[in-house]
Amino acid sequence: MNKGFAQQITEKSHENVNKCLQCLKCTSGCPIASWMDYKPNQINRMIQMGYRDKVLGSSTIWLCVGCQTCVTRCPMKIDIPHLMDSLREIAVSEKVSGEPNITIFHQLFLNSVKKWGRAHELELIGLYKLKSRQLFQDMDLGKQMFLKGKLKILPDMAGKRDMKQMFKDVKKHNG
Ligand code: SF4
Ligand code: SF4
Repeated sequence: MNKGFAQQITEKSHENVNKCLQCLKCTSGCPIASWMDYKPNQINRMIQMGYRDKVLGSSTIWLCVGCQTCVTRCPMKIDIPHLMDSLREIAVSEKVSGEPNITIFHQLFLNSVKKWGRAHELELIGLYKLKSRQLFQDMDLGKQMFLKGKLKILPDMAGKRDMKQMFKDVKKHNG
């Protein structure tokens, strides 16, 4: 148990999990809850209890799609997707993940957006397949997308300068 964990998360996310009433309104409305190893309300409770390793190693923090359903239902207005973002940031910095392939995709996607201004799907798919070692999965689908012109050979760099500035600003803001 890590008694300072709840404090660390509150400082990072500006969301106070100690306000959680365990009413389960978040979990009962969450479209992804059935696939999560711990439900959103359980993650809150585990943060309160200081179960740092379990929370950071959970699949939940990577499966949350940020749909905001829980936020609109929560009587205490706790922004769970915002909490999940903070938890993911800590997990990435500590190199732990309950869903390694999602973590790989997440990092490759951000790298692609930073490099080109928007995601370059063809490069992203290639790198993801290499890193996740799923080389031949979905080959037919990829071929069909390519033939229909959905996967461009060259990246679209229209927003590159703005995106680079945005990454710089975020880095400066986070210290
Ligand atoms: S934001 Fe995440 S936790 Fe909240 S309802 Fe959507 S998927 Fe579930
Ligand atoms: S809806 Fe809000 S108060 Fe209720 S369990 Fe979920 S986070 Fe806690």
